[in-house]
Amino acid sequence: MMRLVLLGPPGAGKGTQAERLAKKFGVPQISTGDILREARAKGTSLGQQAEAYMKSGALVPDEVVVGIVRERLQEMDCETGYILDGFPRSVAQAKALEQTLVELGQELSAVVSIDVSEDELTRRLLVRKREDDNETVIRKRLKVYTQQTAPVVDYYRSQSLLKKIDGIGSIDEIFERIVKAGDFSNNGHS
Ligand code: AMP
Repeated sequence: MMRLVLLGPPGAGKGTQAERLAKKFGVPQISTGDILREARAKGTSLGQQAEAYMKSGALVPDEVVVGIVRERLQEMDCETGYILDGFPRSVAQAKALEQTLVELGQELSAVVSIDVSEDELTRRLLVRKREDDNETVIRKRLKVYTQQTAPVVDYYRSQSLLKKIDGIGSIDEIFERIVKAGDFSNNGHS
C-alpha cells in the first residue's frame, strides 16, 4: 500500500516524480494544481472560484481544495493507494487531511519532502516558465511556500512521518531516493 504525500517547494520536481511513482506503483497521482487547472480550462464554477488566486500565485482557499481531495480520495482507484502532489499546502489542509483519513480508516505510508535551495528553485522556475509563471508570480509562489507550506513540513516532522531527501540530482536519482525513503521498493509492479 502506498499512500504518499510529496512535499517540496514549487520547482522541486514534485509533479515529475509523482507521475513516475504513479506509473511504477500503479496508483493515481492526485495533483490539486492539475485538478484546478483543468477546472479553469473548462470554466466550471470551481475553476472560476480558483482563477484569481491561481493567477496571483496565492493559495486557493483551504475549504475548496480540502473538498476536492476529500471527494477524490473516495474514488475507487484510490483503494490501493495514491500520491498526493501539491496537497496539503497549509497546516489547516494537513489537519483536514488527517481528519479525512481517520474517517476513511486510512493512514499515510510516508511523507517525503524534496529539498532544494531557494537559489536553485528561482533558477529552475524561471527556466520552466509556464503561462502562470511570470517572475512576480514566481516570487509570490515561493513566498507563499515559505509562509504557508513550509510549516507543513514541520507538522509532519513532529508526527515522525517525514522523510527528507536531497532534490539536487537527475530525475532517476531523485526517484530512487524517494522509493528508498518511503521504503516502497517492494510495492512495485515491475
Ligand atoms: P501547482 O501546480 O501545484 O503549483 O498549483 C498551481 C496553483 O494552484 C497554486 O499556485 C495555487 O494557486 C493552486 N493550488 C494547487 N494546489 C493547492 C492547494 N493544495 N491549496 C491551495 N491552492 C492550491
